[in-house]
Amino acid sequence: MKRRNFIKVAGAGSLATIITPGLTHCIPAKKSKSFEGHIFEKLPFSYSDLEPYIDAETMELHYDKHHRGYFNKFITEIKGSELEKTPLRDIFKNINKHSAGIRNNGGGYYNHSLFWNNLNPNSGEPSAELSLAINESFGSLEAFKEAFFTEAKTQFGSGWAWLVLDENKHLKVGNTPNQDNPLMPVSDIKGIPLIALDVWEHAYYLNYENKRADYINAFWNVINWREINIRFEGALNGDWKG
Ligand code: MN
Repeated sequence: MKRRNFIKVAGAGSLATIITPGLTHCIPAKKSKSFEGHIFEKLPFSYSDLEPYIDAETMELHYDKHHRGYFNKFITEIKGSELEKTPLRDIFKNINKHSAGIRNNGGGYYNHSLFWNNLNPNSGEPSAELSLAINESFGSLEAFKEAFFTEAKTQFGSGWAWLVLDENKHLKVGNTPNQDNPLMPVSDIKGIPLIALDVWEHAYYLNYENKRADYINAFWNVINWREINIRFEGALNGDWKG
């Protein structure tokens, strides 16, 4: 993590809150999380904070049942193996060597952690640097949103839509099925994830039923640009944690 961001975050809570992994509740745009320790993080907001765009019941089920389920199954899969101490990026890099359980549950664990942290009721705006990169890659912020919408809308069945920084430091949008992600070689889109949007039906069906398009459009009201700005800055230096 960047020292500057840590200091900024440290001012928002007690020291105990900052240094204890998992106890980061209500601290926005943090960089203090560590995936190496395979920690089930607390949500950075409360279940109802994203209403009316994402309802509290969906948030509770999604976080406490779905996400926790992926995490628990992943931990069961890796228990007693060297993967307990292997960073997720390295697990994903060699995903073909691992079981379907590790691919699906490890992906589900990581993807949802990214997702919660790129949501916030006070969404902020893209930094000057990120805006420039968006304009270079897509022409405008609106054109980017349209391209991202198309990826989210056209992912057949369950999956995710992504904005990534690829190995040539270009921004790209794409989608993945199931719980795959752009850190896995099996993914069509590869790069460091900057934005993750869950388009599984469990992410929206209670509130939006079959209207996935309405859910995607609502996402822009609760996107956490401050976190994405930090991820972009990190990704330029190869920092995969965002
Ligand atoms: Mn989900």
